Amino acid sequence: MKNEPSGSLTERVIRAEILAKTLYHVPDASNMVKLDAMENPYGLPASIRAQLGAYLAEVTLNRYPIPTYRVLKQKICHQFGIPSKYDVILGNGSDELISMLSVACAKPHAIILAPVPTFVMYAVSAQLAGVQFVGVPLQADLRLDLPAMFEAIELHRPSVLYLANPNNPTGNWIPEEQIIQLIKAMADIGLVVVDEAYHPFAPGSMMPRLPEFANLVVMRTVSKMGLAGLRLGYMSASPALLAEFEKVRPPYNVNVLTEAAMGFLLDHMSLFHAQAQQIRAERSVLISDLKKLSDAHTNLFVYPSEANFLLIKISDSLINAEQVFNQLIEHKILVKNVSRTHVLLADCLRVTVSTPAENQLFIQVLCNILCAHPTK
Ligand SMILES: *Cc1c(COP(=O)(O)O)cnc(C)c1O
Repeated sequence: MKNEPSGSLTERVIRAEILAKTLYHVPDASNMVKLDAMENPYGLPASIRAQLGAYLAEVTLNRYPIPTYRVLKQKICHQFGIPSKYDVILGNGSDELISMLSVACAKPHAIILAPVPTFVMYAVSAQLAGVQFVGVPLQADLRLDLPAMFEAIELHRPSVLYLANPNNPTGNWIPEEQIIQLIKAMADIGLVVVDEAYHPFAPGSMMPRLPEFANLVVMRTVSKMGLAGLRLGYMSASPALLAEFEKVRPPYNVNVLTEAAMGFLLDHMSLFHAQAQQIRAERSVLISDLKKLSDAHTNLFVYPSEANFLLIKISDSLINAEQVFNQLIEHKILVKNVSRTHVLLADCLRVTVSTPAENQLFIQVLCNILCAHPTK
């Protein structure tokens, strides 16, 4: 006798962990000053846009991409300092690289480890691949808790350890010697994936040190340097590891327009270096302006950041981070409210460093919001 179907169609077909999930929410940002997503506020100059347009007009849209992406990868290796004899694998954003890693490492009982709070996609993509994610809390000052990391590595023996450096959403920079200690601790256990999404704004990189460590993987994206819309990430590791990751990559994952645009723009990198330089300078200005504001309001704290965003903590008895966030929205300024994403981020907002004018506007509005509730 046939079993009666039970539950709804979605309940019968869709995995329970998917049914239980909530959709990744991206707020409507139309007409807003957008300080929520670490985008570079500077577009391309008109002359470059015109040349790029003419270049893209020649792309053969009726053909599939050549799935080796050999020419683009060679250019990336050359321009972004990939060690000689090392190659890269390309992803549709580094989000896709993270998901390839999860799928490639999804053995039964495998564990993916990361300090938390960190970039949410490590946990999300582990979960989608059916792999258990374990988060090791940062210290209260949001720096890495190294002893807790070693303990968790011994206890869980993870297949993959993710280290976003600088970390999102904290902006914290993990010193190189700590990363090396962790790579060594993981040597006979699993991979250490250093996610350098904020490399253009950061003081260093593990990329040159790849040849020293068989279990080191370095991942980057062009999103934060000014090309978030292109959706292109690249990742390097030993040839043996890359060969396996390649088997998981959908053959045509990077579309021909992205491939061509990146190929073209790699010949104009000085433009992006100059913009990154300007954003780093603006970061210092924004930090000192926020510190001035915090002198008037003891309950505002700015965490150190080596990325193109700042994490600020509002511990005011009269107004909380969520209320500040909502009042900023009323003034058409969108930041990221991370205050309810992790206990260590209670009262915290994440703010992208933007143009001088937008940063000034943010400071002005924040000042008005906080001054309406004097605490000192
Ligand atoms: C933004 C970000 C990414 C995602 O990059 P895409 O290439 O845009 O997918 C990856 N890692 C970290 C830490 C990020 O902050």
